[in-house]
Formats: sequence, structure tokens, C-alpha cells
Amino acid sequence: MTVYLINPSDVSFGTAVITPRWLYVLAGATPKVFGGPALVDETLEAFDPNCVQVGDVVGIGIHTANTLRGYAIGKMARERGAHVVFGGIHATLYPEEALGLGGAHSVVEGDGDVVWPSVLADCYNGVPRSRYLGGRVEASDFVPARWDLIPRNRYMWASVQTVRGCPKHCSFCSVWRTDGQRPRQRSSDAVIEEIVQLRRLGFRFIALADDNFYPVTLNDLQLASRLQDKSRLHVLEAIRVERFELMLRLAQLPPDMVFFTQITMEAAEDPDFLEAMRAARIKGALVGVESVTPEGLKDVYKDFNLAGESLVERLQTFRRHGVHVLGSFIFGLPSDRPQTFTATAAVAERAEITFAQFVMLTPFPGTVDFNRWEKTLGDTPQQIAGVAITRRWLIPPALRPKLYWPHPVMSGEEIRRRTQAVWDSFYSWKSIWKRSRFIKSLKGRLAFMMISRIYRQMYADTGIATDSARLAWSARSARWLARPCRLLFAARPMPHLNAPGAVPCSTTTMPTTRRTISG
Ligand code: SF4
Repeated sequence: MTVYLINPSDVSFGTAVITPRWLYVLAGATPKVFGGPALVDETLEAFDPNCVQVGDVVGIGIHTANTLRGYAIGKMARERGAHVVFGGIHATLYPEEALGLGGAHSVVEGDGDVVWPSVLADCYNGVPRSRYLGGRVEASDFVPARWDLIPRNRYMWASVQTVRGCPKHCSFCSVWRTDGQRPRQRSSDAVIEEIVQLRRLGFRFIALADDNFYPVTLNDLQLASRLQDKSRLHVLEAIRVERFELMLRLAQLPPDMVFFTQITMEAAEDPDFLEAMRAARIKGALVGVESVTPEGLKDVYKDFNLAGESLVERLQTFRRHGVHVLGSFIFGLPSDRPQTFTATAAVAERAEITFAQFVMLTPFPGTVDFNRWEKTLGDTPQQIAGVAITRRWLIPPALRPKLYWPHPVMSGEEIRRRTQAVWDSFYSWKSIWKRSRFIKSLKGRLAFMMISRIYRQMYADTGIATDSARLAWSARSARWLARPCRLLFAARPMPHLNAPGAVPCSTTTMPTTRRTISG
């Protein structure tokens, strides 16, 4: 029995930016008795169903964007006699759909880390159950990834998770509902062990693939300190102490290592945290800016963010502490107007953010927005190619609308066009060259330009363009650029590298929470 683990994708680039971590985690959870699993990442190359034999297990992880491709693979694998198992966020939200349309024998709901060996044992014995409840496993049970299986020459960045869950509740995001609002934070030992393994292999760029790397804000601590019962404060303090401990240990890794993560903008209020990030060489962070106006932030329940000039200042703070921002912006919010697009582009420019992504508001399953939207459409939503618009991921991609909410003043096409124009202007050669001035060497600046273009080709045109010639050109040029780009990220392997020891956090190495909250 061969175990296949497949990350579906409609577009393959030959080389990918970040490793799909779940493949390597489930490989780690696969008992040795079933042999080494075959890992297939379709962002590299398409899966060949002819290799599947009767009795094999084909595990497919899906999120909303790759669901249709995942279902096609599931049906092909089932026809060839495999046990088909679906997991991932989308399968967790719609298990019946994967069973009905994806050829699934089984669906794993929630985290696969602990339940996966039982699924495989049941398949092996010919008695797979249709549903397995993986739940939300505790951080101590997170399975380390099997990096010994990674094809070294195909990825630019490896990914390591340090925490699952996010305490916020943004209306467009499903993370806090699927992964929960309680941060489940791994010990620094477990995280460092994986990173050292990756550096031994020659990966020096690591994405800390977390829902929110800054799970406890100074405001959270202040509010908890006012409560009579101090137990919550102690829990939050412990999480914060562990974050600093991890960053101290990252700082002891080889100096050529670079980390990237995802945090909320509130981290900019916390200079101690930003300085610890600087020391740890966490040089980049995805920050969800979403909107540059207070009305827009209210639209997405993210009024803990700032708008206007304060926003510019807040984003510049990251840069002053050596953290480059990848700002994420949403267009198509009810309060957006035609001038919002130029205002957003201007803020992105003035705030000196290094990379940006501009996405169109889309209701994602599992979010507050989606539920609200689905309700407004009633029992008879519009059908496209025989599929209800509320199941848009099942509509053939070429027929999918680009905007799902009627906007008060703009058509969907106008929003799409204006969004595309902001991508075009932010990633014009001239703008990228200007942004690259923080790099001293010409070689470095050219590398930055190449990486910026590849980011844009992979994430802009493949997402929002409607013109098929433009889509094909983007995929082709991204493929062409990706190969030399990967070499820029590679490092000489360090097979004898040892993990740095635990660092005791003391008042001299880390600002104590008490000192911070009492000012
Ligand atoms: S968008 Fe970010 S901050 Fe908001 S809930 Fe999702 S992960 Fe948390």
C-alpha cells in the first residue's frame, strides 16, 4: 500500500516559493510501517494518476481555492481503486461535499496530526470510516515535519509553524473559527529542532507559517491586569515569555538565516517585541492592513487597525525596526469609492512597505462574511453552469464572477479593473527600482526586482485577470523567473549544525510583562 499525499493546484510553476507544510507534517504522522509516503505538490508539477494502484491511499488537502482540482484528483484516484481521504480547511467545513463530489471514502475534520495513523490503519484493514474528527490538537501534539523528504532544489522558502489559532475575529477570515482563538504555541525546542534540520539541508529562508505570530498584545495584557482573577494575565504572560524565548534562540542560529512571519499591526506599538524580532532576524512580516479608511476597517471588524496618517506612521515603525512589511489590502468593501484605490496605492507608497497584495473582497466559507452573504441570497441563489453561486468553488474557473456582493457605487468589473491597476502601478519596474534603494549592492537590487516581479506574476494575474492570454503569459513568465530566483535563496548545507541551547529568559534579556504593562 503506497500512501500518496497531494497538494492540488491548477497551475504548476516547476519551482515554488514556500513549501506546503501540511504535506511534510502528515508525512511525519505516517507510521513507518506504511513506508515513506509519496508527496506530490502540484504547484511544482501535475499529479500523474496512472501511478496509483488498487489499495493505495490518496490523501488530498484542500482549501477553497484548490477544491475543484482536488475533487478531480479524488475521482481519478477512486476510479483506480485507491482509498481516497480528504482533509484541510475546506473538507472540514464541507465534509459531505468531498464525500459526494470528490470521490472521498473518508474525510478528516480538523487537525490531521493525531488522527492520521488511525485513518491509514483503517484503510489498510479495508474498513475506512467516512468521517474522522481530528479536532484541535494541543501544541505539544503537533507533529514535526519530515524535512528529509523535501526536494531541496524546488523551493525558495521552507515553512515552520510556531503557533496555531488567532485571538482576533476578522469578518473575512476563517482562521479564528477553524483554528480557534486560543493560541496553541509550540515549545521553542520543537521549533528550533525543525529549523536546524532545514538549515542543515541548505535552507536559510524560513517562513514562520503562523496564523498570528503576535498572539498577545500589550492591550490584552493591560485588560487582563485589571481583572480581579489574575489567572488570565498569567496565561498571557507565559505566552509572551515563550515568544521572547523563541526569538532569543532564533538569534543564535547561523547569521545568514532570515525569517518571515504574519502579525497584526498592533505589534508596532510594542518596541520590545520589534527589537526582539530584529535580533531574531525576522526581517519580514505579512501585515493585514485591509483598508486605509476607518469605515473600511469597520466593514471587516478590524477597528483595532489604524487608518490615514497614523496608519502610515505605524507601518513605518516596522521598517525602523528592520521588519519589512508585506501589506495586505482588500478592495470592494461597501465603503470603498473610486478614489479609495489611488488613496490605497499612495499609502502603500508612503508607508514604505516592501511588498503588497491587493485582493478583492470575496466571501470565504467559514467566515462571518460568508454566512451573512449566504443568508442574504435566500433559498434560491443565482445559478451559474448549474451551480449555486454560494458554492462558487464548484463553478468552472472561467465562469466564476470576480465579485460576489453588489457594490453600492461600482460594478464588479470596475473594482476588478481598478484593483489590477493598483497591482500594475505598485509593481511597475520604476516603483520596484525605487523601493529597492534600501539594498546597497546592484546585484541585491536586481534580485529584489526579480523577486518582486515573480511575486506579482504568481499572485496578481493568476488571481484576478480575466484575459486568458494574460493568465498564460503570467504563468509562463513566473515559471521562467522562478528557477534563477530560487538560487538566490539557496545556501550551502551545514550538515553538522547543532541546535542552540535553551535561553533562560531573565529581566536582563527580556522586558518583563509587568514592567511593560505598568509602563
Ligand atoms: S485576519 Fe489575521 S488577525 Fe484577523 S482573524 Fe485572521 S489571522 Fe487573525
